[in-house]
Amino acid sequence: MLLNLSDVFTSEGKVRQESVSLEMTSFESRLGSFSITCKQPVEFTFTNIGVQKARVEGSTEIKLSAVCDRCMEETTVILDLQFDRVVTSPEVEAEDEEADDMTYMEGYQLNVETFMYHEILENWPVKILCKDDCKGVCLKCGQNLNVRDCGCDTFVPDPRMAAIKDIFCRDKEV
Ligand SMILES: [Zn+2]
Ligand SMILES: [Zn+2]
Repeated sequence: MLLNLSDVFTSEGKVRQESVSLEMTSFESRLGSFSITCKQPVEFTFTNIGVQKARVEGSTEIKLSAVCDRCMEETTVILDLQFDRVVTSPEVEAEDEEADDMTYMEGYQLNVETFMYHEILENWPVKILCKDDCKGVCLKCGQNLNVRDCGCDTFVPDPRMAAIKDIFCRDKEV
């Protein structure tokens, strides 16, 4: 959706609020494709903060389906997005230091989908975990350790001891 901000750019002190439903159904990045399972309308507040300049504030909540980095089980990424950006109209020629990277501006219009894509990208978690204390999977048998303890001996022996054990095992096979 494109929101024309001409009125906000040109009227001093102008404040405009918009509630916009997102069209996107998934988030695609180099990390993969994540389908959006739940989304709230984006609550925007546009404020004129100078000649041809506007502040874009807002918030929304988006839930996406993802896989836990530790146990590989399906989980939900909940993004509670809060943003505060400054945009300028195309009439502002010089690079405005206060203005953010405006790849989401198309002339006087704000491309809501592109704007929100950037917000999701910036707020994407470094690590996706189904829960903070996810125990992951057993490196030996692959058992999801959140479900049950497999009882595998995950003790990593001293490499010198392992070598001795190898010799012992080979002897036994003969
Ligand atoms: Zn997990
Ligand atoms: Zn195991």
